[in-house]
Amino acid sequence: MGPRGPIEWAVPGAGTPIRILPPLLVNQIAAGEVVERPASVVRELIDNALDAGATRVVVELEAGGIELVRVSDDGAGIGADQLELALSPHATSKIERTEDLDRISTLGFRGEALASIASVARVRIRSRTPEADGASRIDAHGSRIGPVRPDSGPVGTQVSVRNLFFNTPARRKFLRTPRTEEGHCVEAVRNLAMGRPGVGFALSADGRGVLDLPVGQSPAQRVLAVLGEELGEQMLVVNADEFDDARGMALWGMVGRPALARATNKAQHILLNGRPIRDRTIQHALREAYRGLIEPGRYPTAVLMLEMSPGGVDVNVHPAKAEVRFRDQSLVHTIVLRAVREALQGADLTTGFDPGRSGFAPRSPTAVLPGGGGVAPGGSIPAQRVVDAVRSIAPVGGELSYETLRAALEPIGRGAAPSGADAPDSPGSPPEPGRIEPKPEPGLEAPFPERGVLQVHNSYVVTQDEQGVVIVDQHALHERVMFEMLRARLDRGDLESQRLITPAVVEGTAGQIDRLAELEPLLGRLGIRVEPMGPGSLGVQAFPTILFDRGVDPVAFVRELLDAADRDDFTPGAEQTLHEVLDMMACKAAVKAGDRLTDPELEALLVLRERVERSSNCPHGRPTSIRLTIPQIERLFGRT
Ligand code: ADP
Ligand code: MG
Repeated sequence: MGPRGPIEWAVPGAGTPIRILPPLLVNQIAAGEVVERPASVVRELIDNALDAGATRVVVELEAGGIELVRVSDDGAGIGADQLELALSPHATSKIERTEDLDRISTLGFRGEALASIASVARVRIRSRTPEADGASRIDAHGSRIGPVRPDSGPVGTQVSVRNLFFNTPARRKFLRTPRTEEGHCVEAVRNLAMGRPGVGFALSADGRGVLDLPVGQSPAQRVLAVLGEELGEQMLVVNADEFDDARGMALWGMVGRPALARATNKAQHILLNGRPIRDRTIQHALREAYRGLIEPGRYPTAVLMLEMSPGGVDVNVHPAKAEVRFRDQSLVHTIVLRAVREALQGADLTTGFDPGRSGFAPRSPTAVLPGGGGVAPGGSIPAQRVVDAVRSIAPVGGELSYETLRAALEPIGRGAAPSGADAPDSPGSPPEPGRIEPKPEPGLEAPFPERGVLQVHNSYVVTQDEQGVVIVDQHALHERVMFEMLRARLDRGDLESQRLITPAVVEGTAGQIDRLAELEPLLGRLGIRVEPMGPGSLGVQAFPTILFDRGVDPVAFVRELLDAADRDDFTPGAEQTLHEVLDMMACKAAVKAGDRLTDPELEALLVLRERVERSSNCPHGRPTSIRLTIPQIERLFGRT
């Protein structure tokens, strides 16, 4: 194309009179918001079936729904005299007056779906109410509706939608391949089906059965039937029924172990009163709950079902009803975060051997927190109690004191002792006085008594538990231990720091130094004191004792902080930033791969594994331990 002159902006409206649009065009415009693709039709038709009290819903697709979407139900049906109205815009049986908008308990209420769909596709409705002698049907497409004719068929309604966008070719072009559209339709059915476990759903595509979900399932059965039975042992139950009855909200769900996290958020299903929604508040709460358990940029698998009195939420904010507005958004955030966190903390999250392949997932996890307290089977201490103890210093059950824990934590936080000269390396050599001796109080013994412990390649610790063999990454686990300890001390405000006799000088760009100055309060709490020392340099005045003890160089550490401070998301006060700095400290303070550990140190490390929150994963979210269960070993040896 050659050079062109300036674009001439046509002004089509100029001088033309304002007109009222013909009804067909009005409906097509409405359809633009409501009907994006076949999956939108599927969703609207299933909404209607469920609102009509169906116990079984059958969905048939052809060419991914582009040629045909047909939804049949056994619900209340539509009377012959109402069929034409059902297809009229802004006609609904679900609300009557303005106040009704504040207490919507049906999935539909806008009275727009059928009219919109009929304006861009060929629709046939066949329906029969229980009182009627027979069924009736009506056809509609474009602006043509009716007439109503007698037909035969069972009580209930069947809506067939053919040739989507036949009269709006521009929109038809936006459709993807039948395969892709089919995928979206299946997803829509799966989502809706999870919200109504009691209702049976069947879905076929081009005659092929895709889904068959029986009537009368429990919520857990339904979730697993939809996500895949093989995930059963990988999912943890989230239950916050008791939390906020007063405020009219309940939460039930199932969330995946960290290993089930995916690269997209497709495996997150959020339902509000049975309505699938997208919601950033809830997604954020989920991300928070998994922080440090999965790697950044990955999304946990989760099904969360919220029940809320209709007054607590506005569902009239999105034409396709895919988003809602909560009256008390932060309450929703708190409840989701708390409940998911609790489910994760109550579970043994040790990564199974190759969890990707079925049969290699962790078996019979020693999952659940015993109700009141006490020691879980196998003698391990529920992580939450330990953390509570650390955080509050208050002895739990009069037995577990902060001092006990500190004593247990200290030994492997020993001075920098890389493999070499001053590492006490003769196995069984007596522990340094006052350091090891995590000689626990009754009930705090090592979780699996006579376990052998072996350090291999000075990097991994191999041991056993009730279920099989556990391989621990010593650096990853110790990093988590140090992280939790630092965090606990930070909360208590007793992170000791030491003044440097002469400040250590670090160079940085003016921008970096400004950023670091903003972080001053945070660094201060961590025991790091830095001050500008002329243009382009900083002096480190004080540094955390624990890092000194581990032989960490203040200059190298602060330089690393400066590099991190360059990033945009590194903002003072952000939980994420605190997490990262603590993690940098934990990483430096932790034993390294290659460090030889004494037997008592290995023991202490394993005891801590049982007692520290989120010990299954390092602060970056990678696993600290991998378990090979006895059944897996038997299978590998061909014994079963
Ligand atoms: P809305 O669902 O918002 O009311 P729709 O356009 O989806 O609007 O449906 C219009 C009306 O048609 C509904 O209010 C309902 O009375 C009736 N209707 C639609 N589908 C069904 C169905 N499957 N069973 C019984 N009634 C239905
Ligand atoms: Mg509807």
